[in-house]
Amino acid sequence: MKIFLGMIDLIILSEYRVKNNLFLGVIEMKKRIVRSISRYMLIIMVFTILSIGITAKTSHLKNNNIKYLNTSLGIDIKNIDMSTIHDINPMDTKQIQQLSLYGYRASQMEKMDYGDYKKIKAKQNMSEKRIKYAKNIYPELTDVNMSEWTNEKYEQYITTRNDELFKPNNEQLSQFKKRQIELDDARYLLKIYHSYDNILDQSDETLREHLEKLYIFKLKYLNDLNSIELANLNSKGISMNSYAIPESKKTKYTYVSGLESYAYGNGDWFHNDTQTHIDDNASFYMSQAHNIHRAIYGNVTPRFTNLWGTYSSSQGGAHEGIDMCPTDGPYQPPLKSVVNGTVIGINTSVGKVVIKGAPAGYDQSFFYYHMSSDNVDEDEIVYSGITTIGNEGSKGNSTGDHLHFAVEDGITTSTGKESDDRLTSENPYLVLLIN
Ligand SMILES: [Zn+2]
Repeated sequence: MKIFLGMIDLIILSEYRVKNNLFLGVIEMKKRIVRSISRYMLIIMVFTILSIGITAKTSHLKNNNIKYLNTSLGIDIKNIDMSTIHDINPMDTKQIQQLSLYGYRASQMEKMDYGDYKKIKAKQNMSEKRIKYAKNIYPELTDVNMSEWTNEKYEQYITTRNDELFKPNNEQLSQFKKRQIELDDARYLLKIYHSYDNILDQSDETLREHLEKLYIFKLKYLNDLNSIELANLNSKGISMNSYAIPESKKTKYTYVSGLESYAYGNGDWFHNDTQTHIDDNASFYMSQAHNIHRAIYGNVTPRFTNLWGTYSSSQGGAHEGIDMCPTDGPYQPPLKSVVNGTVIGINTSVGKVVIKGAPAGYDQSFFYYHMSSDNVDEDEIVYSGITTIGNEGSKGNSTGDHLHFAVEDGITTSTGKESDDRLTSENPYLVLLIN
């Protein structure tokens, strides 16, 4: 059962946090201007020089108010706030259709790009479908009347909620401050290390390596859109091949932003065959991820550190499973079976248990990886939601406690290779339509 819905060629960047901070920044700037006339002159001069420089290089640049974030660990590479980037890629047919539903005419849409589409969509009320998925993902919204909510308001809700959810404790906060690690970057590092304590266990050198890659990746992205910043990269002697995703692979993957309850940065690259997290599909698949998490972990606050079909920079290929864990404990919790089936394979050295089951009507194999211990025997019958398969862990190819969960067609004890760009595993969200 291969779900292939066609190629996506859109590059999607986050626009959701078009910031109030920007305006606050302007107000603060004005105060300072009043305080010091000489400083005022200097600001005007610098600003003029900058504007001339940027305009000259990028005549096609569209209102990009690029904002830079502080860098961690004294890294001397610019760190871009991706949410302030206007994406000048063209719209696809689905987006054009959507805009005509909003009442836009073809002549008006001629000059519009993907960034314009995102801005318009943000101001529109949420669709009924999206409200339904939102209530499924966030039970606290069940009784909230969301009929007047704009998409922007919902995105803000998610951002605030995630900020609260992924807030480090005071001890961790002071450690990050002491080591000069920005909180935005700590959030990004969660994807790799799964907990703030794990991050703090790493040396500055190790963390610097990851963050430099991230900053360069963002710069390169900006450069693709706007043809600026290239000089910045070259002057640092940075090789073009060191990005999180190599240039040559970008045609096979699509960047998707606005991933709800994703444990870092809210965006990732997805293999074009997935179609799982694009636009209106995003809410559905994210709610499916939550359903699977709940079926395995029970009622804990979920965290997803890698979704199915993302580009795995450590493996250099498509990620064949879903990486998940609880947000703040418990430590190495018991994991329940998601299907009725039979245990067909156990490998304790990598913490792997494989279950044969047929939730979609024919044999498929369900994989649990990295477990610290297993609780089942070969040929044992297991029951969905009842049998404990084992306890979460970090065995095998893993940098921190989490579960790598994957589904394969037929009876097999091995999953697809993560190191190539073919996505051979099954779409776990469609196999397991858990409600
Ligand atoms: Zn994984």
